[in-house]
Amino acid sequence: MVYLDNNATTKIDKRVYHKQCEVLNKYYGNPSSLYPLGIDAKEIVSIARKQVAYFINADIQNGDRIIFTSCATESNNSVLNSVLQPNMEEKHIIISSVEHPSIFSPAKYYESIGCKVTYIGVDENGMPDEKQLLSAITDDTVLISMMLVNSETGVIHNIEQITAKVRAERKSILIHTDAVQAAGKIPIDVKKLGVDFLTLSGHKFHAPKGVGILYIKSGIPFVPFMQGGHQESGLRSGTENTAAIAAMGEAAMLADNKLKSGTVHKVELLRDMMEEQLLTLFPNAVIFGKQVQRIGNTTNIGFKNILGDKLVLQLARKGIFVSSGTACNSSSAQPSRVLKAMGASEEYIRSIRISLCCDTTETEIQMLINVLKEIV
Ligand code: PLP
Repeated sequence: MVYLDNNATTKIDKRVYHKQCEVLNKYYGNPSSLYPLGIDAKEIVSIARKQVAYFINADIQNGDRIIFTSCATESNNSVLNSVLQPNMEEKHIIISSVEHPSIFSPAKYYESIGCKVTYIGVDENGMPDEKQLLSAITDDTVLISMMLVNSETGVIHNIEQITAKVRAERKSILIHTDAVQAAGKIPIDVKKLGVDFLTLSGHKFHAPKGVGILYIKSGIPFVPFMQGGHQESGLRSGTENTAAIAAMGEAAMLADNKLKSGTVHKVELLRDMMEEQLLTLFPNAVIFGKQVQRIGNTTNIGFKNILGDKLVLQLARKGIFVSSGTACNSSSAQPSRVLKAMGASEEYIRSIRISLCCDTTETEIQMLINVLKEIV
């Protein structure tokens, strides 16, 4: 099997898996309990929080908050839920037209019940139209949510520049970035990005599924989405998933090491080599976002008049797993909303996404290329 769909999810790292098993077996107390088993579990969560804080340069000693959630979808929904109440009908939010459905769908929902939403377009490379963004700001604008890295194309958005420009225009607007696809691929620094909220998901960087984070900058008010037992300082109720949280803390440390040791750069070289060979073999193919900065593991390639869904199935028959369509949910037969927003032509819009990880080998890439040679 050749697994090349790491933007959909990643395989849990062995060390992370062992950490999770250790916590499940040994530290199974409820972190809210007052006896030692509970206190130990609480400490496990606290260590993971520090690890994640280090990973994204959050200052939890001085009021920045990191809350553990069940997934990035929950984190993203929580941000919209928080900023839009009360008086949602009087508020305006801005998102990009290429956001993940976990922002796009709730934004559509809130729009349907009275909130004002502006969807910012992107250019042919997938870069948000900053002029349109700045001119969309009104007195009612409370939030801008723009992803750091696009999940389908890997295009990196210049959030640092966007926040600086928005702050110059209006300081009071809150800014959220969905950094799910950035984790472990580029450094994430909440201070440099200048954001108020940031979302991550464990399963995108070799931690287990079912755990995510929401970073909330010091002093920024937050209305909890999940109410109940007051866990996570009252910001996210529900008994902590201690083992998955500990595993994600471990995964954050490993991802940080890979970024610093140059392992991540090797993935980019392999991806670039693959793209070069593909473009030589298929000169009519189009690689989306290739002209701008992308994370190093992602290739979104359209072969002229060839349906991505069909390619995905044919590749799967040969044991090679990539994705098509809306990527995280490639069961959808619709052409990609992201590529549509980029103005992709009908001939190319049903592309495939190949996403590598640090374990991907040259042999695996060669197998993919050989099979594509046969079937395209
Ligand atoms: N945001 C982005 C950019 C994603 O790629 C994904 C998942 O594919 C999500 C959010 C949702 O993540 P989760 O599966 O943790 O809810």
